[in-house]
Amino acid sequence: LLPGSTMRTSVDSPRNMQLVRSRLLKGTSLRSTIIGVIPNTSDPTSDCDDLPNLHRIGTAALAVQVVGSNWPKPHYTLLVTGLCRFQILQLLKEKPYPVAEVQQLDRLEQFTNGHKSEEELGELSEQFYKYAVQLVEMLDMSVPAVAKLRRLLDNLPREALPDILTSIIRTTNQEKLQILDAVRLEERFKMTIPLLVRQIEGLKLLQKTRKSKQDDDKRVVAIRPNRRITHGSITEDEEEEEDHDDVVMLEKKIRTSSMSEQALKVCLKEIKRLKKMPQSMPEYALTRNYLELMVELPWNKSTKDRLEIRAARIVLDNDHYAMEKLKKRVLEYLAVRQLKNNLKGPILCFVGPPGVGKTSVGRSIAKTLGREFHRIALGGVCDQSDIRGHRRTYVGSMPGRIINGLKTVGVNNPVFLLDEVDKLAKSLQGDPAAALLEVLDPEQNHSFTDHYLNVAFDLSQVLFIATANTTATIPPALLDRMEVIQVPGYTQEEKIEIAHRHLIPKQLELHGLTPQQIQIPQVTTLGIITRYTREAGVRALDRKLGAICRAVAVKVAEGQHKEAKPDRAEVGEGEDCKEHITEDAKAESISDTADLPLPPEMPILIDFHALKDILGPPMYDMEVSERLSQPGVAIGLAWTPLGGEIMFVEASRMDGDGQLTLTGQLGDVMKESAHLAISWLRSNAKRYQLTNASGSFDLLDNTDIHLHFPAGAVTKDGPSAGVTIVTCLASLFSGRLVCSDVAMTGEITLRGLVLPVGGIKDKVLAAHRAGLKRIIIPQRNEKDLEEIAAHVRQDLTFVLAACLDEVLNAAFDGGFAVKASLEHFNSKL
Ligand code: ADP
Repeated sequence: LLPGSTMRTSVDSPRNMQLVRSRLLKGTSLRSTIIGVIPNTSDPTSDCDDLPNLHRIGTAALAVQVVGSNWPKPHYTLLVTGLCRFQILQLLKEKPYPVAEVQQLDRLEQFTNGHKSEEELGELSEQFYKYAVQLVEMLDMSVPAVAKLRRLLDNLPREALPDILTSIIRTTNQEKLQILDAVRLEERFKMTIPLLVRQIEGLKLLQKTRKSKQDDDKRVVAIRPNRRITHGSITEDEEEEEDHDDVVMLEKKIRTSSMSEQALKVCLKEIKRLKKMPQSMPEYALTRNYLELMVELPWNKSTKDRLEIRAARIVLDNDHYAMEKLKKRVLEYLAVRQLKNNLKGPILCFVGPPGVGKTSVGRSIAKTLGREFHRIALGGVCDQSDIRGHRRTYVGSMPGRIINGLKTVGVNNPVFLLDEVDKLAKSLQGDPAAALLEVLDPEQNHSFTDHYLNVAFDLSQVLFIATANTTATIPPALLDRMEVIQVPGYTQEEKIEIAHRHLIPKQLELHGLTPQQIQIPQVTTLGIITRYTREAGVRALDRKLGAICRAVAVKVAEGQHKEAKPDRAEVGEGEDCKEHITEDAKAESISDTADLPLPPEMPILIDFHALKDILGPPMYDMEVSERLSQPGVAIGLAWTPLGGEIMFVEASRMDGDGQLTLTGQLGDVMKESAHLAISWLRSNAKRYQLTNASGSFDLLDNTDIHLHFPAGAVTKDGPSAGVTIVTCLASLFSGRLVCSDVAMTGEITLRGLVLPVGGIKDKVLAAHRAGLKRIIIPQRNEKDLEEIAAHVRQDLTFVLAACLDEVLNAAFDGGFAVKASLEHFNSKL
């Protein structure tokens, strides 16, 4: 800080903070706003607490403004104006902030009545004044600050000029320090004149080059190296030059890249603009990012397909157990690709519950084709710009996920897996499904235009595969473009095989275990499947196996650790290690086994006790027979996006005026089914001898009925609960129990016919999982049974019903005889 100049400085050392707090902020007099500013000549990196050696000379300053802030750390920012030089005579105290006795060096009289000095300095100061004027006039006078400076030059005493100009022109700290130390005016003038001259020369050169730059861009490049010689003041220009080199490089890359003609044209136009743009403009960065993306995109870089159906079959079979139908369709699809050598055709969409291997089949397809794989998660995407990019006019605009994906994989023929297309949402920002249409349509996607790129990109080589949990929520137009392949859930046997062939080896590898260290027999796997998971896929099973491996890893690691001590190594209580322990000793055994070293040759066997230790008590129990212990309950089969489920439908009646109450978040179709069921039962009440509580055949006379569908938190809809509601109500009105091992599904009509429904395979698997034995399905669904694995079919009895009579007969032990009641009537007559 030199007298006459102003600067903003930040203080954060404890000493200075104290000074600000107790002097500047507390003081009320003018005196208290004046502080001494001394250049810090000590090494800025040395971080010691002591007061550094103070420079001999400093500047008294007026603190004009104090601003405090806590971020990023507590500090004050001071705006200080230099008044005059002082010299330190003696340091009075150091703490809490330094106070010293000083002597003022510059004095006002020196400036005002110093005729003598003027004479002495006459020539020097005149010379200085001339240079100063020359310098200021080289600047742009239209800037108000420059005009003001020009006026100041005339009005200020000449003696004040060296200080003021030194703080304006470009100087090093060292030079400034020299000026500060130059207490004698003569010396000060002498020192500043060369600095002024240097600045003037620099400016002259700059102006010259500016002019020639306008004439001819090329010459600038030639002149620039010379300018380096006039070091000091042109660092900014150097940066600009470097940047210019970058732009030239970029242009070269654009020209050599293989982008389409249209894209090339756009890029060249942009680069032309970029060259003219000052780099500080926000648009500069935008344009540059855009051009870099254009260069990076794989315009015609692709991997070579190595498609051989036989190899593909092997890869698919090796990676996935079961799912025959899916694998067959995928192979067909690939075979057609091989023969026809182009990709136009329907997009495959795998639909099924979570964890049935949809994503991993997609990955295998990429592997068989030798293509890159990229997954695009669409769950919850509600903005079409996510697919198609933002226009470049927006701040923070970027390309959509498709283009981003291409950039990531770096080739133009990857396999893109559009995950969860059923979870696309609509919002004010447009409909992403509509944007996807363009991507997926083989007629259109060879010229897909991302809003950010604004030029067409050919997507026709990309292989798209979609996955979804349900087709119900896929927008119809999108569904229309895809070929849906249902991937149903697995049976218990399939799950066991998958676990032993794929999941367990994978988990072992993941946890650094070997089959010699852990053994999971098939019964244990079955136990996990039935008692710890209830799902259609194998994801929870995979997680549980992971938990087991983790627990075993701890024991194995501990065992290894202890084995290092030879005296304990032969404690061969293998039984304990195997965790063959009685129930009551179990609690101890956990800690016991942890303490025992494990003989390395003995694998840890995971049996039911170990399972209970590791996974806790079983989460699911068979509850079927318990819940069917009173009339008015029947088991239905439902289909959900997560696979099949069994559902207990409950009914009760009470005095009332014939109202039907339905609970359990039912959709309209389901409510109508309930009304249908009641109507049919009322119209057939006599035939089946169904009565209300007071013995009347009018079932709703003085009676209210309540029907409840459990899992009340989940919305349910669909017609397939019809037969279950009828059975449940028939049980309620007849007072008979429904067989506890029978489940049913089917839509009903008012005339008592049973119509076919969907999702039979999932529903049957759910019933099988729950341990039910008989399943009533609509007769017209018979063909669906073929898809069900033979061993599951063996375990179950299927009743094919065409009308409700058959359903009721099958649902109740000994049948729901109509004949008996007819005879009864006969005898009465
Ligand atoms: P989805 O995409 O259907 O939700 P994933 O593809 O993520 O399911 O599959 C979950 C896990 O289950 C994966 O680790 C996968 O390898 C495994 N998996 C699923 N089905 C099979 C199968 N049939 N054979 C082998 N592993 C399978």
